[in-house]
Amino acid sequence: MSEIIEVPDADFAQLEEQAATRQRPRFGQGAAIVCDGLVKIYKVADLEVVALQGLDLLVDPGEFIAIVGASGSGKSTLMNILGGLDVPSAGRASVGGHDLLAMDATERTLYRRRVIGFVWQQTAKNLLPYLSARENVEMPMILDKLGGRERRQRALELLGIVGLAERADHRPDRLSGGEQQRVAIAVALANTPSVLLADEPTGELDTATSHEIFDVLRAINTDLGVTVVVVTHDPLVSGQVNRTVAIRDGRTSSETLRRREMGDDGDHRIISEEFAVLDRAGRLQLPREHVEALELERRVRLRLQPDHIGVWPDRANGHGGEPTPTASAGEEEAR
Ligand code: ADP
Ligand code: MG
Repeated sequence: MSEIIEVPDADFAQLEEQAATRQRPRFGQGAAIVCDGLVKIYKVADLEVVALQGLDLLVDPGEFIAIVGASGSGKSTLMNILGGLDVPSAGRASVGGHDLLAMDATERTLYRRRVIGFVWQQTAKNLLPYLSARENVEMPMILDKLGGRERRQRALELLGIVGLAERADHRPDRLSGGEQQRVAIAVALANTPSVLLADEPTGELDTATSHEIFDVLRAINTDLGVTVVVVTHDPLVSGQVNRTVAIRDGRTSSETLRRREMGDDGDHRIISEEFAVLDRAGRLQLPREHVEALELERRVRLRLQPDHIGVWPDRANGHGGEPTPTASAGEEEAR
């Protein structure tokens, strides 16, 4: 937001062209966001912290997904990489056809300015305190050299979309936390990005205000067609978005899908179902509770059934025996 780097328009045209002609990896072809075996290692003094360890993620154009996970699981690392604020150590990552590992500094600046919008958790980090809401929204457009009238009009339009038309002339300190985050969303949308990334945008807000922010994000997703990825701590989020991706130890571990179903009474119900994620090498993370419940360790027995796979603890030393298809006590289903 504070950087001011002059970039000729011709460079942006070239960037778009490069992105269009660059061959897309087959995995995730057509996806808005592709992460393929993404690795991020931070080096701190002599220590290496592996924040992402081979993370796979595909997001379709126009999707609205939530990312959840314990503190330190790698959520912000992922968002910073997708936002072009940090560079991956290995693997592949691309957003809208832009390869995040191949970009030079100019491409990265343009990418951050035009392809994605970013909202931070800290309300204070999103806005300049001495500018009004409208002026804050105009800022990215000034950097992008949009004319004054057009700028003003677009800023007011965006503030209208986030429900703050009446507050356009207020400075951040005269706005509530929720209102500040709405302005931040408008700022992030100023240069019509195709992807909006929000890292715990409701982390400092109460539940009711958080839900309002989610409503705004949903409206932006459906009305403007912007792909939205939001990191949240809210355990109820899976009821609000179609897909919730859980990250554990730097990898996607499960996905919760929400769908509408018609009940016998003819009423629509929302059903949320959690799936384990199978990566391209066939690896699966069993939920910790399942591992603990059966005291699974190191090795498990698998048996392929016509419609599922059974997973049994390895009781090699006389504690169990060969599993049979009816050994339901030790049976774990992995669909
Ligand atoms: P989350 O957002 O899910 O809480 P982060 O992505 O911030 O997790 O962090 C993932 C891991 O990477 C943590 O172990 C964290 O300590 C480490 N980490 C994050 N950023 C840095 C950094 N700049 N330098 C060193 N380690 C980092
Ligand atoms: Mg974080």
